[in-house]
Amino acid sequence: MEHTLQKLPYVYDALEPFFDAKTMEIHHQKHHATYVSKLNEILKECSEFSDWPLEKLLASLNEIPEAIRIPIKNFGGGVLNHNFFWEILLPDSQGGGGEAKGEVGKVIQSTFGNFEKFKSEFVKQAASLFGSGWIWLVKDGKKLAIITTPNQDNPLSAGKKPILTLDIWEHAYYLKYQNRRAEYIEAWWNIVNWNEVEKNFLK
Ligand code: MN
Repeated sequence: MEHTLQKLPYVYDALEPFFDAKTMEIHHQKHHATYVSKLNEILKECSEFSDWPLEKLLASLNEIPEAIRIPIKNFGGGVLNHNFFWEILLPDSQGGGGEAKGEVGKVIQSTFGNFEKFKSEFVKQAASLFGSGWIWLVKDGKKLAIITTPNQDNPLSAGKKPILTLDIWEHAYYLKYQNRRAEYIEAWWNIVNWNEVEKNFLK
């Protein structure tokens, strides 16, 4: 089984003006696509893992032979993280943005006090992440937590279940925002798909 490049659930310019069309196109067709082809190259050499779903590969890194463990973590994570990221975005014209609703909204309130406190903690950690990586809202047992991961690491490798994420690699924002990471993070809140986050939370 070859891994394929997951299609976006919207067109490249659908998230304007928050995420620009050119960045979305390059991010998907170049960065994401490269992770897919590199992952397939590695799995060709180790076909016993080629049928494993990405979630299983990333959650079971200690079962992967050492020779391919790091490439699987990097490229498998690169594929899975982007698959997940595209799905939690929604154009603001279609209801993206606003505040968390439903069960996840309630647990955000009980964990962080209120939505604004959650948001400011998330922003603080996203802004201060050193180098390339991701920020996540994860389920850790019955609780929620905000964590960051370096490179293309996925929380599943640490036994935590992702429900929301933001890509903090420069390739995600440099074309439009250059070094203004804070503006990119602020813009992103306008296109979060809270219905999808709720689904992830209830899964
Ligand atoms: Mn990316």
